[in-house]
Amino acid sequence: MRQLIAGNWKMHGLAGQLPEVLGIATSAEAASSYADILICPPATFIARAAVAAAGRMAIGGQDCSAEAQGAFTGDISTAMLLDAGASAVIVGHSERRHYHGETNEIVSAKAATASHAGLLTIICIGETQAQRKAGETFSVCDDQIAQSLPDGMNLAATAIAHEPLWAIGSGRVPSSQEIVDVHEHIRKCLVARFGADGKSVRILYGGSVKPDNAREILALPEVDGALIGGASLKAADFDAIVRSAGPRA
Ligand code: PEP
Repeated sequence: MRQLIAGNWKMHGLAGQLPEVLGIATSAEAASSYADILICPPATFIARAAVAAAGRMAIGGQDCSAEAQGAFTGDISTAMLLDAGASAVIVGHSERRHYHGETNEIVSAKAATASHAGLLTIICIGETQAQRKAGETFSVCDDQIAQSLPDGMNLAATAIAHEPLWAIGSGRVPSSQEIVDVHEHIRKCLVARFGADGKSVRILYGGSVKPDNAREILALPEVDGALIGGASLKAADFDAIVRSAGPRA
């Protein structure tokens, strides 16, 4: 499976950052034989980023509505994402779940709409520090996958991003063994539900991936790529991470 290296720009991205997009697109082109590269800028920046990327990498949204259109002020539909040049979307990021009260049910509806629209869909899950300490990581992931990943998705264009909440933006990462344990567990959970098709879902790691730890993380079994926040904003950092990915058996 080709690894997916995805950048989540969060609420960053103004015209002055177009050179970073161009730099990342150059890295993406160089990596095109072994990895898929995606940048998810804010909605206002998608169209410009897509033009700058010029097909050398994918551009995605950070969220979408579960609705097709209508009186939903401020929301962005999947058709709008596609219209702006996006081919992917992140749903259920912990910041959406936390600051916008998005439940598993809402995330599931968004994921279904995104997948049916033909977007590569990244569904984020992850446990808090307290849940990890209480030994609940597997059960939290099980519940989030069961409830946030709807039936009927195009699994080959679906990724689960496991992002421990305590690792996001903190500079802390789980040990390699902890990452493998959770990813192997997620894979078992997917195969138990979808059979062999569950093997085609990419499982990404997210949480403080940086140039200095990317090689070790991306070499781990069942790590099919990474979702990267802070280190995706600078082309030089992101390029170092992209170079850490490699062809997978
Ligand atoms: C994220 O928010 O998806 C993320 C992984 O952020 P960071 O890489 O900054 O921890």
